[in-house]
Amino acid sequence: MRALQLKSFQSDPELVELPEPQPGPGEVVIKVGGAGACHSDLHVMREFAEGMAPWGPPFVLGHEAAGWVHRTGTSVRNLERGQPVAVYGLLGCGQCKPCQQGAENLCVHGMEGPPGIGFGVDGAMAEYLLITDPRRLVPIGDLDPADVAPLTDAGLTPYRVIKKVQPKLTPGSHAVVIGAGGLGHLAVQILTALTPAHVIAVDTRESALALARQVGAAATIKTSDNTAQELKDATQGAGADVVLDFVGSAPTVALGAAVAKPGTDLVVVGAAGGQFAWNFYALPYEVSLTTSFWGTLPELHEVIALARQHKIKAHVQRFPLEHALHAYELMEKGQLDGRAVMVP
Ligand code: NAD
Ligand code: ZN
Ligand code: ZN
Repeated sequence: MRALQLKSFQSDPELVELPEPQPGPGEVVIKVGGAGACHSDLHVMREFAEGMAPWGPPFVLGHEAAGWVHRTGTSVRNLERGQPVAVYGLLGCGQCKPCQQGAENLCVHGMEGPPGIGFGVDGAMAEYLLITDPRRLVPIGDLDPADVAPLTDAGLTPYRVIKKVQPKLTPGSHAVVIGAGGLGHLAVQILTALTPAHVIAVDTRESALALARQVGAAATIKTSDNTAQELKDATQGAGADVVLDFVGSAPTVALGAAVAKPGTDLVVVGAAGGQFAWNFYALPYEVSLTTSFWGTLPELHEVIALARQHKIKAHVQRFPLEHALHAYELMEKGQLDGRAVMVP
């Protein structure tokens, strides 16, 4: 089968021919219907180096996946060949308490090995994908796998954050989304679907802001030297109740801090690794500055349910697997809106 393999860090992935995976007992092989290209793949390809993580190349990229059940190993029940499913991409030890509760994102051994498919373990940018535990497959009904693939990460990650900050998002509240790309455009939709908050999207690119408005943002701001003041004005001087930072660079974390008011939830999701000097006085009282990582299996079931109710839908640009590298280059240059999905 054709697959997009990363052979070493700080290199471009290559299209290679690999043997089609075969399911062992209790395992399932999925025919991939869509594999999303996440900015995290770019961080891994460009910024990671040998020894930085307890896993590494070679591996097939792709941690956002959906497709059809292709082959099942012995003792797999309740799955039929051809059935469309979304893939919960996280891997965990499977034995700690969070893993047993379906929260592989909080696995106590999570930083000791590959966090998910497409990170040190073969992922979804291939014709077929091996799933070692059928529990990680979520039925998607009549949704198109290419539309669903981004929901398994670009949808699930903001969904988890928004569930956590939901108590702050009462009528009249303001939620700021910094970075209206793959995750951000879904965050706008989830905020709109689940909360009465006034959603303000911030991005460096007008096309990303146009998409944010199209999917429900009440206001958008293109970044400039004056973004913090414009954001304050957009909240009638009050400041934001919630800031979701889908970039995570030093300037975006500083922007979030600048529009915080006492009690704001400021969540850094973007992995740009920007520094922020923190102490008791660095932020207004009781601002909660935190990170959030991917999501749980029960949360993925909820995200798929929202999509099946037509309350959220990824804006998808489809590419054949052969053009995956081009899709990543477009993402890197800021010429993609929504999510690029490879359709093998
Ligand atoms: P993306 O490239 O699709 O979107 C990023 C958006 O941010 C783009 O629209 C870009 O124009 C905008 N942007 C860049 N710099 C900006 C700035 N200074 N101010 C405002 N907007 C800016 O990326 P994505 O796939 O949505 O991923 C976003 C980030 O989230 C990445 O760092 C990725 O690694 C990370 N991520 C984290 C998790 C997690 O679990 N925490 C999960 C998935 C992705
Ligand atoms: Zn991702
Ligand atoms: Zn675990």
